[in-house]
Amino acid sequence: MTITQPSTLIRTPRNRDPQSISLVIPCYNEEEVLPELRSRLRELVAQYSCPVEVVLIDDGSKDRTWPLLAQYAQEDSFIKAIRMSRNFGHQTAITCGLDQTRGEVVVILDADLQDPPELIPEMIREWRDGYDVVYGQRRKRFGESVSKKFFAFAFYRTFERVVGLQVPRDTGDFRLMDRRAVDALQSLRERHRFVRGMVSWIGYHQKALPYDRPERFAGVTKYPFRKSLFLAIDAITSFTYAPLRIASYLGIATSAFAFLYIIVVIVLKIMGINDPGYTSTMASILLLGGVQLTVLGILGEYVGRIFEQGQQRPLYLIDQIQGEPLQTEATGRNQRSCCQ
Ligand code: UDP
Ligand code: MG
Repeated sequence: MTITQPSTLIRTPRNRDPQSISLVIPCYNEEEVLPELRSRLRELVAQYSCPVEVVLIDDGSKDRTWPLLAQYAQEDSFIKAIRMSRNFGHQTAITCGLDQTRGEVVVILDADLQDPPELIPEMIREWRDGYDVVYGQRRKRFGESVSKKFFAFAFYRTFERVVGLQVPRDTGDFRLMDRRAVDALQSLRERHRFVRGMVSWIGYHQKALPYDRPERFAGVTKYPFRKSLFLAIDAITSFTYAPLRIASYLGIATSAFAFLYIIVVIVLKIMGINDPGYTSTMASILLLGGVQLTVLGILGEYVGRIFEQGQQRPLYLIDQIQGEPLQTEATGRNQRSCCQ
């Protein structure tokens, strides 16, 4: 499957500022960064005369993240704090936040200040120029381990080759989206979500904004290797069934090898050369067992996802909401509930 992007569509500049702005910030055990995040957000909000809402989602944190967010929502009228009923994961937290936004433009950023809010005015300038999606692209990445950088490097290149969809390299979820792009994205209600891939899939006019990604302001990464690996598997399996095809190729290759081997054995037998066979029997049993289990595992990944999708459970559940910065009447937009 190859998905091409409509780069030739004619872009019409908007030449005006947005009527309202929403920010979506997922937070998981981020108590150390929240005070600094809040003061940086206050500076940003003060620059705009239009209504701005900041939707902070607590993804089931175990530290003081929720009490702090609830307090901020009471003290700052631009903050809306949402507590999910448990930890649903970063991509689902973003989805929950997007469902709650009402702004004409929406910006997704991480809580740890690795996605500097100071870049938002530049993103808005690109939006004025007619772009629907403006994504931050990392020129340099500070404070990330060599293994994480290598994993990201290998993943994006593999994804591009296997899926045929270009997810811009060296990007995260830091991006500005026009309302129509947000609505398009939110109409995709799949369970295993790879948001940056889905944003690429929707198309429209997209532009990169290069930036040097600073280190996390405080605390440690909430994306250990295990979570990054699961995200990579979700990304591949939700965009392509190429691994199943690879599994078939593997099966065909193994069968071809077995066929050739049988011919060799018969020829050796005719020539009177007797192979005692114990080692080769063990080797072939192990090889075939390994191949079969691998293929079964790949199949299982897809069957499991069909099962979960078939259950039609809500993507997430909300425990509490504090604050209501943008009223529905202001934008004429209704929020989506968690179950749609
Ligand atoms: N996050 C989340 N739920 C999770 C893990 C992470 O909401 O289960 C949030 C986290 O608080 C942060 C963002 O996702 O705002 C990115 O996480 P992090 O900065 O730890 O990832 P990294 O930048 O190290 O890849
Ligand atoms: Mg980070």
